[in-house]
This record gives sequence, C-alpha cells and structure tokens, in this order.
Amino acid sequence: MKIVMLGAPGAGKGTQAKRIAEKYSIPHISTGDIFRANIKNNTELGLKAKSYMDQGMLVPDELTLDLIMDRFKDEDCKNGYVLDGFPRTIPQAEALTKALQEKNDKLDYAINVEVKDEEIITRMSGRRACLSCGGTYHIVNIPPKVEGICDKCGAELVQRADDKPETVKKRLEVYHELTQPLIEYYDNEGILKEVNGSLPMDETFGIIVSILG
Ligand code: AMP
Repeated sequence: MKIVMLGAPGAGKGTQAKRIAEKYSIPHISTGDIFRANIKNNTELGLKAKSYMDQGMLVPDELTLDLIMDRFKDEDCKNGYVLDGFPRTIPQAEALTKALQEKNDKLDYAINVEVKDEEIITRMSGRRACLSCGGTYHIVNIPPKVEGICDKCGAELVQRADDKPETVKKRLEVYHELTQPLIEYYDNEGILKEVNGSLPMDETFGIIVSILG
C-alpha cells in the first residue's frame, strides 16, 4: 500500500502516519525527519537544508527529490510506504507520479488531514521534540511523563526552530501557496480522502483505518 499524507504543518499527519506504518507494516517516510537527521549528523545535505528549514521555507525540489528517490530504493519500500511531508509541491507530486509510472505503479491513497489555521497555530506553539530520538510531544495534548524530558530516551525536549510562532506563520503561508494545491491534484487522480484532523487522535485514526481497510 502506497499512501501520501497531506495536511498543513501541525495537522497531526506525522502522528497518524506513524500509526498507519505500524498497523500496516510499511515504512513511515518523513522528509522532514530525514533532513533533521542530516542536520544532526552535519552532512552536506543537512547544511544546505537547515538554512531553508529554520526560516520556514521549503528545501528546493531538486535536493528533496534526490533524497526521496534514493530512499525508495531501500528494501523496506517494496510493499509500500506512508509518505509524510512529501510531496509538498506540484513538481514533487508530478515527479513522484512519473517515477511510479515508470515502474507501472501508482499511489493508493492521498489522505488529507484537515485542521483550521487557528487550531494549527495553537497546537504548534505547544509542540516539543526530542532531537536525540525524534520523539514528538505536546505540552497539553501529548505531554511527556516528566516535563521537558523524552519518555523514550531521556534526552531534553526542545521547541524546534521551525515551530516558533513567526516560523509557523511563514510555514502556513508556504503551505497554502505551494502544498494545498496537491489536494486538487490528488482529487483529480481519484485517490483523495479527506479526514477531520480536529477530532481526538484515536478517532481520526479510526476514520483512516476505515478508509484503508
Ligand atoms: P516537516 O517535519 O515535514 O514539517 O518538515 C520540516 C521542514 O523540512 C519543512 O518546513 C521544510 O523546510 C523541510 N521539508 C520537509 N519535507 C519537504 C519537502 N517535501 N520539500 C521541501 N522541503 C521539505
């Protein structure tokens, strides 16, 4: 099963993607996570990506496409994947469609996790991340057991530079301009499914499972 998660930054698509990956035994591929891992490891790619990410801008398509096409070659992708944060622009979506077509393949679903902008801003200001293991929390909705400390690895939790209020505003602008058009793109492909992302997390996941079967 090949799934694309759509939705604004902070809509909860990452959390849902992780649960889908677990339930359907497919890899969860987050371009944001891959960029962050590269930044942490001080790679050349990480260095290039960081300047864009910290400003709430998108990393150029060329860099992103090279990275994801490489990831698709990994053995664990042979039964499908759930993509989180990719594609994020129409050229990225077209490149993905083309790459799949070349292998006589296609996506099964594009799931749009719908949440209003005002709610996104409230949610993201409370988001905390573990830079050590990638764990994500929310000071109200998903608090860690001990404030400021990652449940999984014990490292300190931080507010990501791109979750700071001024960056969130920029990311939402970028989302509306460049990423939202993907909803129509996948609707035209006949694979779009809309789910309400404002419901409690488990309910949203239940709806997704009823769609995926
Ligand atoms: P995310 O964790 O998906 O919210 O991504 C964090 C940041 O990584 C974004 O704000 C972008 O700067 C960058 N990024 C992640 N995925 C992509 C993508 N598909 N295209 C361009 N930039 C991306």
